[in-house]
Amino acid sequence: MTNVPEEFGSLVFDERVMKARLSEDVYASLERTIREGKQLDPSVANAVAAAMRDWAVEKGATHYTHWFQPLTGITAEKHDSFITPAEGGVIMDFSGRELIRGETDSSSFPSGGLRATFEARGYTAWDPTSYAFIKGKTLCIPTAFCSYGGHALDKKTPLLRSIEALNRQAVRVLKLLGSREVKSVIPCVGAEQEYFLIDRKAYMQREDLLFAGRTLFGAKPPKTQELDDHYAGMIKPRVQAFMDDLNLELWRHGVLAKTEHNEVAPSQHELAPIYGTANTETDHNQLTMELMQRIAERHGLMCLLAEKPFAGVNGSGKHNNWSLATDTGINLLSPGETPHDNAQFLLFLVAVIEAADRYQGLLRVSIASAGNDHRLGASEAPPAIVSMFLGDELTAVLDAIEKDEPYSAGEKTVMKLGVHTLPRFLRDTTDRNRTSPLAFTGNKFEFRMPGAPMSIAGVNTIINAAVADVLQSYADRLEQAADPEAALHELIREAYASHKRIIFSGNGYDASWPAEAEKRGLLNLRTTPDAVPQLIEPGNVAMLTRQKVYTEAELHAHYEIKLDIYNKTVSIEAATMNDMVTRQILPAVSAYADGVACTAFHKQAVLPGRKSLYENRLSEELAGITESIDAKNAALKAVMETVRSTEDAADKAALIRDRLLPAMAELRTVCDTAETLTEKSRWPFPTYAELLFGVY
Ligand code: ADP
Ligand code: MG
Repeated sequence: MTNVPEEFGSLVFDERVMKARLSEDVYASLERTIREGKQLDPSVANAVAAAMRDWAVEKGATHYTHWFQPLTGITAEKHDSFITPAEGGVIMDFSGRELIRGETDSSSFPSGGLRATFEARGYTAWDPTSYAFIKGKTLCIPTAFCSYGGHALDKKTPLLRSIEALNRQAVRVLKLLGSREVKSVIPCVGAEQEYFLIDRKAYMQREDLLFAGRTLFGAKPPKTQELDDHYAGMIKPRVQAFMDDLNLELWRHGVLAKTEHNEVAPSQHELAPIYGTANTETDHNQLTMELMQRIAERHGLMCLLAEKPFAGVNGSGKHNNWSLATDTGINLLSPGETPHDNAQFLLFLVAVIEAADRYQGLLRVSIASAGNDHRLGASEAPPAIVSMFLGDELTAVLDAIEKDEPYSAGEKTVMKLGVHTLPRFLRDTTDRNRTSPLAFTGNKFEFRMPGAPMSIAGVNTIINAAVADVLQSYADRLEQAADPEAALHELIREAYASHKRIIFSGNGYDASWPAEAEKRGLLNLRTTPDAVPQLIEPGNVAMLTRQKVYTEAELHAHYEIKLDIYNKTVSIEAATMNDMVTRQILPAVSAYADGVACTAFHKQAVLPGRKSLYENRLSEELAGITESIDAKNAALKAVMETVRSTEDAADKAALIRDRLLPAMAELRTVCDTAETLTEKSRWPFPTYAELLFGVY
């Protein structure tokens, strides 16, 4: 039996270990760095490094790595061993300098031109606010990754900057509201992670899964998720064994994995952790995805994190639950008991509403990818239009404030915040509006647009920065006010009135919503190429630079990188399709068509007058489809050539959106039809039925 409390965090250099292994002075100095962001004293770094090394070596580690998140979104690591030659042998060595800063020859990480203009190398810098941990035989040190020019080449640096910006402005606002105790405000995040588990043997037989991480072909089997019999259903033994292993590994790494269940699609599952701070949860989520993939293989499974691995069934997202906590333990997005608490709550609530409305384009682009384009807008995923769901009660409260009307028949007086008692809001736990991109769920916002494989650093960076910016404008205004109470009331009223267009409680799939959204002036950025220009839109650049979250150069780099990744991703998919069709599907279908025709011919010769109608019809139909596949494959190849010869990244992306993806869709349709007509044993790779129902 595993003793979970004993195992929990056993692979993490956490507070308990630090307390036990560091001298009091060193510990106190390190704690100041962690809590207050003070620069670490170099002499302290040596002591911390030595303690870390001893601890890691005792746990069997032989290497260390600066663990960082380049802009590809995947975590990167380069392992160095601890060994240093000494007296004819070796000792295990690790200095403070090696802990704090690493140089990495990382010219192959995307930099969008940032590094080229400065220096070829980048460096990694220890983030002491996220604990080091052991993975396999390696001590992993969470780090930020920058160019020598100081530009962020990773996802962590802007996230840390956004957390600082939000802290600055939120504390300012709280002071103006009369708070004396609060010293810091920190965003909290809990990321629910969806994924598919499929059999590894089946996976290995499909080039599309190998190269693209998602299926590019596959006819819909007779049954998928219609009966809703998978959702929260019994977990199959092999999957349960995987989950047990995964939980234990996550707990050892200090990740508070809490709930797990089957999701809607067959073979789809979800894991939710207990929430923590935005920075640590970002690292934890990266680690979770990595461990999921590694542990799946141990069980003969593959973990698919693609946003839409299978057409026609639900895709996988990541629900980013976000709230704001003070160091005094108050959730600022939790409705309070007193009028004062409620005024404070409403102010932070409208700040998020205003931020989401003003920076909807940035929210959209923060979750844009070729894969997510296939997921958004269908099968329980939110649409591409950013909108917000508040629930009936809060909407009614805010409507009443806007119109200076009583909140309900029960309330006799018009609400003046901070003067009259506001109704105690009930926690609206009835929200099951699954199509809402950003839903208020009682004491937190749940942002449901991120795709399953994405780092949550990007979206939280944008939410933090946007809310910080709005809070800054509120603080500026409250500071100038002669009558703060009246100003507060007016501020909430005005902010709600100006930004309530983002609030939408209806069905996001309804055909009338895009038209309604357009009337409201909301953005409808359907695809990644449509969304990417938001990164360099002047208003967005102004906000992000004002909050010191990104430099203008970094945003331009992001723009380039996003386009480049989009272009490469879809181009690889197209090439994979072309290859699968040319070397697998066409030979299989045409051989089968020939075989059927041949049998029919034989029967005709041997037994004149007794030819099978079935065989004749089928061979004719298959011959026609074969021609069609061949023609569409050639058409795809031609578009691929045009894409390849287009230089400009934005032009290339537009071509991909407008011509390559439609050509891929057409080719897929005929191939899927061919699949439904071809004898099972002759189809060249496992079908949807085998992939979706193959694990038991
Ligand atoms: P729901 O059923 O509404 O999705 P859950 O209680 O299951 O809510 O929580 C879903 C995720 O939200 C979990 O990861 C949880 O830890 C996280 N979460 C809960 N409260 C907060 C909060 N105040 N801030 C951030 N995340 C939270
Ligand atoms: Mg949820």
